[in-house]
Amino acid sequence: MEMIAIDRDFTVVRNSAVHGKGVFAKKTIPKGTRIFEYGGERVLKSNLAKDLVDGLTSLVYVMNLNETYAVDGERGGNDARFINHSCDPNCEVLYFNNTPYIYAMKEIQEGEELNFDYKYGSEGDVEVTDEQKREWFPCNCGAENCRGTLLSN
Ligand SMILES: [Zn+2]
Repeated sequence: MEMIAIDRDFTVVRNSAVHGKGVFAKKTIPKGTRIFEYGGERVLKSNLAKDLVDGLTSLVYVMNLNETYAVDGERGGNDARFINHSCDPNCEVLYFNNTPYIYAMKEIQEGEELNFDYKYGSEGDVEVTDEQKREWFPCNCGAENCRGTLLSN
């Protein structure tokens, strides 16, 4: 059987003008491309507060999976954890078999920074005003439609 080698090495991590490190396209990434998995350890959400206190995580790279589990990119994660947030993103997270993957929502040009909408939920019953959202989780992505916060509306 003939094997077709596909070069899936699309990205490189370097410093970002938006925030800290970022992930950039090394070449054009076609729309719909599965770029990579959002890697990391499966962790119990109920343990996260304790894990933070115990110094196992900073919670910065935690991606929600389901009611019970999250993926922590800080533990056993890959470059996907360095993707910054944007309110007008070029990538999205899709789940297959309880595994999050980063997909290109549009064609991404060489040198362009990858981003997706974090859409942090306000979990629990706490009512948060739009002003508090912008104060506590500010967004500086620079998109024209920037909502000013990493939280979803
Ligand atoms: Zn924004």
